[in-house]
Amino acid sequence: MTEKANGKKTATIGVVGLGLIGASLCMALKDDYRIAGCSRNPDTERYALQHGMIDEIRPLQDMHGVDCVVVCTPIWTLEDTMRAAYDAVGESAILTDVGSVKGVLQGFRGRVVGGHPMAGNEKSGIRAAQRDLFAGATYCVVPYENSREEDVAFVERMATAAGAHPLRLTAQEHDRLASLFSHMPHLAAYALAQSAPVFEANLAGSGFMDSTRIASSDPKFWTEVFRRNRENVLTALDGHIGELTRLRALLESEDYEALQARLDEARQKREHVRTTRRKR
Ligand code: NAP
Repeated sequence: MTEKANGKKTATIGVVGLGLIGASLCMALKDDYRIAGCSRNPDTERYALQHGMIDEIRPLQDMHGVDCVVVCTPIWTLEDTMRAAYDAVGESAILTDVGSVKGVLQGFRGRVVGGHPMAGNEKSGIRAAQRDLFAGATYCVVPYENSREEDVAFVERMATAAGAHPLRLTAQEHDRLASLFSHMPHLAAYALAQSAPVFEANLAGSGFMDSTRIASSDPKFWTEVFRRNRENVLTALDGHIGELTRLRALLESEDYEALQARLDEARQKREHVRTTRRKR
């Protein structure tokens, strides 16, 4: 089921923040929804309109009348933008977001349903947007205490229309799992990059480059994610440090049999994820 009837778009989505995620979402949804968009920079808004990413430029304060507002601004602006969105639409529209930490929207006023597409990359801004960014990705949909079932279902249909697979989770489940599968790997990549002897750059092969690719991500953004999900990230970090300490002890004691067994176990886990994960 989509928001289209007899080939006509029956719902309007307001997208606030036309960067990598916001503009990609506009492109992915424009065949099924009417899209009203706004951003901070008027040049970005014009670019989105000229490139057919949005049907109209509409400032946030004029969003009354849309069915759903999707807040895609940088994470440190999320709460202020959600409050401004509520001031604009009140209870007349669903309010959702794409932010990487979901506990922060608990208790917010309005018809709030959390969202987090597990897609993206280390780039940012409208020029990095891709229509197929969400294709095959998991899209976490997070109902809060006061969320209405029909609003949650609307966000799930929107995620499906974007090419993603919606997955309903509580905010607590989301934030714990995100710390393990997303936040911790970024912290580890930053740590690996930090330990590199940069003057030997020509020795960096694909192993180093693959493992540190995400250390090219925006440090301001990731500091904010770690701050917002601090408790879960600390727990994930403890687990990671514990494993490194274990590997170190096995190497120090020259217990190569146990070391190999531990690496083998890790490889099996990685292979399990690789082979059972939905193909993208
Ligand atoms: P981004 O590329 O930097 O896009 C955000 C855009 O919002 C900026 O380019 C800016 O565009 C605009 N903006 C900034 N402040 C604004 C404001 N106050 N009001 C309206 N527009 C504003 O960032 P992004 O990667 O798309 O991230 C946006 C959200 O997606 C974040 O909450 C993040 O947690 C989430 N997310 C990111 C990823 C990822 O891999 N990047 C993945 C999943 C979820 P102009 O200045 O050009 O107008």
